[in-house]
Amino acid sequence: MEDKNKYTIGIDLGGTNIKAAVFDTGFKPVAELSILTEAAEGPAHVLKRIRLAVTQLTEESNIPLEQILCMGMGIPGLLDPEEGLSVFSPNFPGWEQIHIVNEMKPYYDFPVCIDNDVRVNLYGEWQHGAGRGARNLVLLTLGTGLGSGIVHDGKVLYGTTFSAGEVGHMNMFRQGRPCRCGSSGCLGRYVSAVGMVNTFKEKLQEGKNSLLQTWTRYDNGLITAAMISEAYDLGDPLSLEVMHETGELLGFGLANVINLLNPELIIIGGGMAAAGERLLRPVRDTVNAHALKLSGSSCRIVQAELGNRAGTLGAAVYAQQKCSGRQ
Ligand SMILES: [Zn+2]
Repeated sequence: MEDKNKYTIGIDLGGTNIKAAVFDTGFKPVAELSILTEAAEGPAHVLKRIRLAVTQLTEESNIPLEQILCMGMGIPGLLDPEEGLSVFSPNFPGWEQIHIVNEMKPYYDFPVCIDNDVRVNLYGEWQHGAGRGARNLVLLTLGTGLGSGIVHDGKVLYGTTFSAGEVGHMNMFRQGRPCRCGSSGCLGRYVSAVGMVNTFKEKLQEGKNSLLQTWTRYDNGLITAAMISEAYDLGDPLSLEVMHETGELLGFGLANVINLLNPELIIIGGGMAAAGERLLRPVRDTVNAHALKLSGSSCRIVQAELGNRAGTLGAAVYAQQKCSGRQ
């Protein structure tokens, strides 16, 4: 096997941490590490930090750069993956029109490619996680916001400006919560860790009570999505209500997605996916009641499998596919 001693690097750029991992040709992790992003210092500094992570990773694992086949990077925000360009990133100050791939090229002999962070997660789950073997699938990542990516008839969807599949900005209410996209009532403002916590706080402000208030000593700023899951398990009525409402709304959103795309699989990932069946049960009930019957009954809704490694593994899988011309 000519590629026996070859490796792929995957980078997962987050607001707080840069995660980096090196994988063998079977996508088994050989080494991984995490360093602080220091995003406030601007793009040039962050790109330097990424190169530092690569140096540490290859030194610690004793893999010379000559044995690296390619490197993939998952970057938050709007990107042009063909140009290797960050167009705009809401949580990263100064990342407008930053040519990430060109900035990395002088340092490495192997190809470097970038894609949106959610889309690289999609590649990972599709090839090595919950989506193995599927030709039509949708990945949602429920974190502070709602991200999504789509595989349709065996191809990852990009769209005219690489913005296809923004399920999180599907309008659910004509006059809803304002969204930073400029619109309001977007699904992600409700179905995300932040969104669910906001729903919970609204209900407290309306005068409802919860067991959770004793945990936070009535400081609503301390409420988290994980706490709502915990109180749900103890039968807290407000937690049951909020989880059900959030799942139901996601179910209506997914009924639209299912009617539009007819996927066989919807994968729910991200930190809030830890809510598991508490959230997925009302999602499935709503999909069964409201999606087109054949489409709804043919679509499975499952939790993601890759967990913390979704970003680095996805970036590595994406890089290999891109380098081999398969995507
Ligand atoms: Zn929006």
